[in-house]
Amino acid sequence: MAPLFLACLADRAEVIQDAMLGERAGTPGRSCQLPCFKYHPKLVLKFCPECTKEDIKRFGVSYWHRAHQVFGVNVCSTHHKELLETKLHGRSRLLRGLLPPTNCISATTTLENAQFAEFACSKLINFSSGRKSNTAAYRRMLKRFGYLTTSGRVRRQLLSAELYDLLSTLTAVDIQFKPTSRKDFRYVSGLLDKNNVKHPAIHLLFSYWISRTRKAPLPLKRPKIRESRPCLGKEKDAECLALLAEGFSLTEIMLRTGRSRCYLKRLAALNCIETKKQPTKLTSDRSVILLQLARKGFHRQIIAERLGISVGTVEMAISQAEGLVGHRKRCKYQSYRRRYKAQILRYRQRNPGALRKHIKKACSAAFFWLYLNERYWLEEALPTPTKAQAKPRVDWELRDKELAMKVGDVLSGCEGRISRSRLDRLLGGHGWLTKYRARLPRTMNVFRAHIGSCKGQS
Ligand SMILES: [Zn+2]
Repeated sequence: MAPLFLACLADRAEVIQDAMLGERAGTPGRSCQLPCFKYHPKLVLKFCPECTKEDIKRFGVSYWHRAHQVFGVNVCSTHHKELLETKLHGRSRLLRGLLPPTNCISATTTLENAQFAEFACSKLINFSSGRKSNTAAYRRMLKRFGYLTTSGRVRRQLLSAELYDLLSTLTAVDIQFKPTSRKDFRYVSGLLDKNNVKHPAIHLLFSYWISRTRKAPLPLKRPKIRESRPCLGKEKDAECLALLAEGFSLTEIMLRTGRSRCYLKRLAALNCIETKKQPTKLTSDRSVILLQLARKGFHRQIIAERLGISVGTVEMAISQAEGLVGHRKRCKYQSYRRRYKAQILRYRQRNPGALRKHIKKACSAAFFWLYLNERYWLEEALPTPTKAQAKPRVDWELRDKELAMKVGDVLSGCEGRISRSRLDRLLGGHGWLTKYRARLPRTMNVFRAHIGSCKGQS
């Protein structure tokens, strides 16, 4: 099968050839880099009973035909009979006395399967003479038959569908070598990608499809020509002109005729007609009220709602009035100042014992605004900061009490004199009776009493 693999995996041909020269039997197979989980070959040898009979007649002995062992081909190309299989029990290269069995019968296959077997056999002979199958050749053939667009893209939908239709008629081919559906685009794209390794059986099937596909090129798709819009005619223009002349607004004419605002403006300009815009809502009376409200510091949303105009119009009017923006900023500053100061003072009245951190947490917006803008006032208004006091980690008095009882227990069970350091070790070796003995007067009294009693006994 080497010629088939070398021809179909032309990019890896050198690696495979080197591997074949090596000693290990599995290396050539691995060097093909085929996904073994998908294309794991069965350990079988295939034979045709009719060929076996003929071989015995001609040569006196039968032999294994190479053309029968091609992956995916399960039909004899000469007799059009289904091939039978002999199971192998190991990956041995040579088994003495292993010949195709005689007296077997096999069924006749369909015409499509027979044609593919013939094709595969002829390909095997071609590949043995050194021909190669590669992606560039596939692309050339596809281009010739119109399966590539003018920009060089593959018409995958058409190609996949036709390929699936033909290959689904080959019932004798193993299913793992065939596309799964009419939309199995990966099957084709993998074949046309030179970095993608596909099994030789798939290359054989694709080559078979190319040999069987239409010989006349497909017509190239022509760009669609847009139908020209029906001309609305001069009637519509006349209607628009009449409405413009009557003094209707552009919006109204736009709604009535369906023509765009730009179109109407151009039409009016060409015919020297003045266009009438929508009436502005901001009259001079309203403008006065607006400015009065704005000077009093009302929010622009409130002004807009009260006058029935947009917020944008209010903002525009405010920005146009001289000094009004600055005045409103000052008003806003004073407003914040009063509000936040009142907030802090009210909180302090309600919580007389509150510390700075409590005020900061409860009135954070007011605290930070005043911290940035009115820091002196804030410092005076807040309670005086309390100094941080370090908490003693150990309550020595309590420890002294507990330890005195414990030492008493230990010493009562002790016979004879005991040193202070040893007693400390018995208590856990914390250094309480050595380093910190000055802090533990009661315990030391208990210990001294014990020493005194020991001396008295001796
Ligand atoms: Zn045969």
